[in-house]
Amino acid sequence: MDEFETIERLFRPLAAGTPEALGLMDDAAALPARPGFDLVVTTDTLVEGVHFLASDPPDLIARKLLRVNLSDLAAKGAEPYGYLLNIAWAPGWDEARRTLFAKGLAEDQAACGLKLFGGDTVSTPGPFTIGATLFGWAPAGKMILRSGARVGDLLLVSGTIGDGFLGLKAARGELDQLGAEAVCALEERYRLPRPRLELSTALMQFASASADVSDGLIADAGNIARASGLGAEIALEKLPLSDPATGWMAGQADKSVSLAALATGGDDYEVVCTTAPDQATAMIAAAERAGVALTIIGSVTSEPGARGTHGGVSVALDRTGWRHG
Ligand code: ADP
Ligand code: MG
Repeated sequence: MDEFETIERLFRPLAAGTPEALGLMDDAAALPARPGFDLVVTTDTLVEGVHFLASDPPDLIARKLLRVNLSDLAAKGAEPYGYLLNIAWAPGWDEARRTLFAKGLAEDQAACGLKLFGGDTVSTPGPFTIGATLFGWAPAGKMILRSGARVGDLLLVSGTIGDGFLGLKAARGELDQLGAEAVCALEERYRLPRPRLELSTALMQFASASADVSDGLIADAGNIARASGLGAEIALEKLPLSDPATGWMAGQADKSVSLAALATGGDDYEVVCTTAPDQATAMIAAAERAGVALTIIGSVTSEPGARGTHGGVSVALDRTGWRHG
């Protein structure tokens, strides 16, 4: 299956009913402006062996590509609109695998109301590399920035933290101390992130700053703090944990170090955000109405840097390791 056939047979159907894409037969797509809105643009690239495993099913890889990008739109409070798709096919990506890949795109496009506008296709000796550029809409001037946090704001995070870190371990077969059901749930969470698009109303109404949790909670909370010219303090014992993560913690001797691992591991695709203390209750209630749990995990401080504490004792953190303070 050559590049032309791939576009014609697999990608053109994904752009059917999308006049902006011009049937994937032109040099470019033309996106009409939407009065009163800003076009929110984000892009992420995934590399085999780095962001997913070579053995992962092609449809799940495609869905992960869309979802890691949708997670950025979710954190900005933006409504998904469409995307451009860049693919470097590697050896072994035969028609059957490409067809499955396109099926995964179709599934999540439909689920999130995303349209395919176009892309670019090349071949590579490897590794298989894919990128997507997503477009979303936010009311003009209202996209939620990383830089809006104020001293004294509370830090909140959606869902649960650490499942991405444990999910990668599970996928590599490194979690044999947990039961099969827990391992399966964690693996699924790593392979198929769930972007928090439902949070948009609560974020738009209450968040002073927001970011998606892709690099690790501490790093991403730190990004909000840095962009705001401030610091962040996170109480590790307040981290919301899934049942499998709670099970894993029970077998860990040093709770501080293990919680720090969950808070610095990546791939959670939750949203970390800030709000004024007197807004937090209303924000949590609004998120709950949308079906998403928000948990208060710390606060914004004037001292720069992101810090973790455990039982009031500071735990020094960095990207690669931890020492007790
Ligand atoms: P060019 O020669 O200008 O690079 P191409 O032949 O690569 O144009 O692309 C032809 C059409 O197919 C364009 O509309 C382009 O957006 C679309 N296209 C190419 N690759 C992809 C892809 N991976 N996904 C979606 N559309 C694609
Ligand atoms: Mg091209």
